[in-house]
Amino acid sequence: MTSLLIAAERLIVTRDTAAAHTPPNVARHHAAPIAPAAAPDGVRVAPAGSGQSHVVSPGYVRLDGERIAEVSAGRPPGRPDVELAGGTLAPGLIDLQVNGYYGHDLVDADEAGWLAIVRRLPETGVTSFLPTFITAPIPALVAALRTAARRLPSLPAAGSRVLGVHVEGPFLSRDRRGAHNAEWLTDPTPEAVRTLLAAGPVKIVTLAPERAGGLDAVRTLSRAGVLVSVGHSDATAGQVKQAADAGARMITHLFNAQSGVHHRAPGVAAQALADARLTAGLIADMAHVAPVVCKVAFAAAAGRIVLVTDAAAAAGMPPGRYDLGGEPIDLPAAGPPVRADGTIAGSALRLDAAVGNVVGLGVDLAVAVDAATRVPADLIGRSDLGRIAPGAVADLVWLDTADSTVDPTGGTAGTAGTAGGGLRARATWVGGELVFKGVQ
Ligand SMILES: [Zn+2]
Repeated sequence: MTSLLIAAERLIVTRDTAAAHTPPNVARHHAAPIAPAAAPDGVRVAPAGSGQSHVVSPGYVRLDGERIAEVSAGRPPGRPDVELAGGTLAPGLIDLQVNGYYGHDLVDADEAGWLAIVRRLPETGVTSFLPTFITAPIPALVAALRTAARRLPSLPAAGSRVLGVHVEGPFLSRDRRGAHNAEWLTDPTPEAVRTLLAAGPVKIVTLAPERAGGLDAVRTLSRAGVLVSVGHSDATAGQVKQAADAGARMITHLFNAQSGVHHRAPGVAAQALADARLTAGLIADMAHVAPVVCKVAFAAAAGRIVLVTDAAAAAGMPPGRYDLGGEPIDLPAAGPPVRADGTIAGSALRLDAAVGNVVGLGVDLAVAVDAATRVPADLIGRSDLGRIAPGAVADLVWLDTADSTVDPTGGTAGTAGTAGGGLRARATWVGGELVFKGVQ
């Protein structure tokens, strides 16, 4: 087995399994633990905030093959194979919502498109992700899920892992549809839910629980081990609570395309922040959600925020016309992609930049990294991922401050002001293999 010793000036260590290897006096930065939530049979959901990550400086990791064998503070005992000067060694980033990237929309991408995305996402620090299919007619979603199931086994190991598919629609609210096509929205009948479940590797379903049959669908999906996320929803806080009672554990892109936090009419976002069972996705490009509201989210839902990109095919590309769910979107010179009527349609965000953006708001580095690593991993039942800890999968990213003078992607760095953030992946490992090494 190949062994690799990496010395880092700074690294983010997760305490739940690494505690024995770190001295007790290292600074700890973590969210308050949250009690495990009861879940119906079949739901594999780790309690949000169960782990505690913190910064160790300096430190080192020893990899044995695909796993992390040792994590420790201080200088390594021998000569390291890799010496990371500056920056932070973090777990590989995990993105639970990727519609497309690099010009390809995953719902109908050909094999070359899938390969391009899988091979290139490590450039953004992303070592695993969920391809996300937005609303389409059920037969089209079935076809896309079957294609995904067929492609997964043959995807290259030297790329970002595909952990399953996030199906965002078609069981959404007409009033909160955003860029989704209203004609294809429908109720989550038992038959429609069964059909999608049988078609392919469904990991997350975003739905509006207030639709007819919504709560039954939440129960069916949760029992089948699918993570149900409330999104594109006009539900009241009470209806979201009922969805959580039925097994829902996530909120899709908090504040976007959902009822909000009115103090006498609390909606999806209010319940998301208040309910310890729920973890919320957040698009931190500083355009989808204003910076101050991102800060509110991290403060109110400590350990329960997951950074997502909601990236569309326009991500990683120059301004121009691209495709989302079979219909055109335009990426302007600044700001997220939009439909012809001006509706925001996905993002052009990089997940490494999103981490930097929230750090720029004053969120602790370890908390920001957790929101893009350990928290999403635990949420989908993959606690072998998303942490630097002995026994964990050796997916890693070396993050460093972005050099704004060489950012060729314009709109991807947190378009409407980078809020002082700006982190970029400089090197990325998947399963212990170096899969990306950037310009230094
Ligand atoms: Zn959406």
